[in-house]
Amino acid sequence: MSTPVDLPDPVRGRPGAPLPPHLTLLYRGPLASCDYDCPYCPFAKRRDSPGTLRADRAALERFTEWVAARAEEAPGTRFSVLFTPWGEGLVRSWYRRAMVRLSHLPHVERVAIQTNLSGRTAWLADCDRGSVALWTTYHPGEVSHERFLGKARELAAMGVRFSVGVVGQPEHLEAARRMRADLPGEVYLWVNAAEGLTYTDAEAAPWQELDPYFHYSRTPHASRGLPCRTGESVLSVNGDGDVRRCHFVDVPLGNLYDGSFEAGLGPAPCPLTSCDCHIGYVHLETLDLYDVFRGGVLERIPAVTHR
Ligand code: SF4
Ligand code: SF4
Repeated sequence: MSTPVDLPDPVRGRPGAPLPPHLTLLYRGPLASCDYDCPYCPFAKRRDSPGTLRADRAALERFTEWVAARAEEAPGTRFSVLFTPWGEGLVRSWYRRAMVRLSHLPHVERVAIQTNLSGRTAWLADCDRGSVALWTTYHPGEVSHERFLGKARELAAMGVRFSVGVVGQPEHLEAARRMRADLPGEVYLWVNAAEGLTYTDAEAAPWQELDPYFHYSRTPHASRGLPCRTGESVLSVNGDGDVRRCHFVDVPLGNLYDGSFEAGLGPAPCPLTSCDCHIGYVHLETLDLYDVFRGGVLERIPAVTHR
């Protein structure tokens, strides 16, 4: 059966407009469920219906196919991909498969995912360790010190790039200190300011001691009118292929799969008052974070570790 010519090709973009030499894609599909029960999270212990899981899988496979097809369709562009699912992706086989596949594509520099590290790690042996990376978060109320540390040691032994993060809740401080002390020295432990919490200097000090870059997270960054790489060399993509500049500015730039997003690419100042999430403000040009995290912007690994 032949394909009707008026249907959009799922992987061929609009010919003509060249993509930038390097494009970072922040992907978030319909998945919104997690095996953990963190009290500070709306996705705690949420379940997705079988229909949502099927849709999430199909959307992720389509996205992966699109990136793979850029080797021929956009030969001048290299890609980096960060999966930022609501909830936990790596307990789903299709996220692991996508990571394995993308890691082996020569035009993909980096493929990373945010994860609670609850799943097994053996599948990472099938990845290209030169391009795969994990942004892991340690949730002390959900997993024991020994279990998380064991997983981290498995990653280190396999040569997988990863960072470890903790949410800066006061009740997590002792657990974070203990994790820092036991992690290999070269593993960066970052601290995210807890949502809605304002830290006095005295309260911030112990977190800053754990994470030399905590000051970037401690307070939101005023961003309105400032240059930000999103919309130009960094894009947010959802499961339908709708493209926005970042996860926080809800203005569609077009669609990935029909190529309509290409016309919307270009430099533009941030329209929001402030940016308080690392996956956003790391791209603000007025901060020096591309230097600080050189080589590890997506997985949040600084170029220099201070331990
Ligand atoms: S592990 Fe992450 S997604 Fe899951 S409940 Fe905790 S904060 Fe939410
Ligand atoms: S500064 Fe943050 S909110 Fe503003 S455009 Fe950049 S990523 Fe988006």
